[in-house]
Amino acid sequence: MSISGRGAVVTGGGRGIGAAVARQLTECGVRVVVAARSSAEIEAVATALRSGGSEAWAVRCDVADPDSITALFEQARAHLGDVDILVNNAGIATAAPVVKLELAEWTRLWTVNATGTFLAMQATLPGMIERGWGRIVNVASIAALRGARYISGYAASKHAVMGLTRSAAAEVASAGVTVNAVCPGYVDTPMTDATVSNIVERTGMTEQQALDAILVTSPQRRLITPNEVASSVTFLCEEAARPINGQTIVLDGGAISSH
Ligand code: NDP
Repeated sequence: MSISGRGAVVTGGGRGIGAAVARQLTECGVRVVVAARSSAEIEAVATALRSGGSEAWAVRCDVADPDSITALFEQARAHLGDVDILVNNAGIATAAPVVKLELAEWTRLWTVNATGTFLAMQATLPGMIERGWGRIVNVASIAALRGARYISGYAASKHAVMGLTRSAAAEVASAGVTVNAVCPGYVDTPMTDATVSNIVERTGMTEQQALDAILVTSPQRRLITPNEVASSVTFLCEEAARPINGQTIVLDGGAISSH
């Protein structure tokens, strides 16, 4: 049994983890729609995948906009037929102490990270349930499992993704559909580059010092690679992962388990 020929939507597929997920899924023969706001990035990813012989399309989407999500899945179905696999990877991260976190920023984090994930699931689950096969993987974070200083808005929105994952998994368990999450620590992507730059700007540290400061949380003292996250996401999409439902794979080098 293989997932070759299945149709997948990867949100936030223009760079970082999402681009790696899209590539690994196509290596399994999955046909992929990559979605994000930056047309140039998603077009570049889709073009590179097509030039490698895979079937891939770019569809512009802002997951903070419900109409844009509706349009994404209309176009995805036009390209793929059925959407069998959904990887909710689009996300944003900002940092502020809880007493200084503005309501607008809190709302933005929730709208993209939690509500975007919820709406994309609503757009795809009915078809998956009807056909009796589906895989949803939500890219959460170790911040979905524990708190830390200055990330209350991000952590709260990612905790919401975990609650959504576990509850939806319970609802679809008998329908051939699974809903799981991956929870990485710091990954080597533009998002982490921005975190490092932010620390440099706020503290006057060098880039290396800022990187060392965030790696203090990692027992392996290194950034996780996008490909390592993509491997877990791809595994959760495979037939072999059928009994795994409502779970999370924690990719943190042992940070949470040794805390
Ligand atoms: P990047 O910033 O490198 O990439 C994020 C992707 O999401 C981009 O393609 C971006 O494209 C897209 N995106 C952001 N906002 C929206 C939006 N409103 N609508 C559609 N697409 C959007 O981040 P990463 O690859 O690092 O992160 C991917 C996921 O992994 C996120 O959910 C993040 O929270 C999570 N994660 C990341 C970790 C890390 O250390 N980097 C650790 C743990 C979890 P565009 O801006 O063009 O829309």
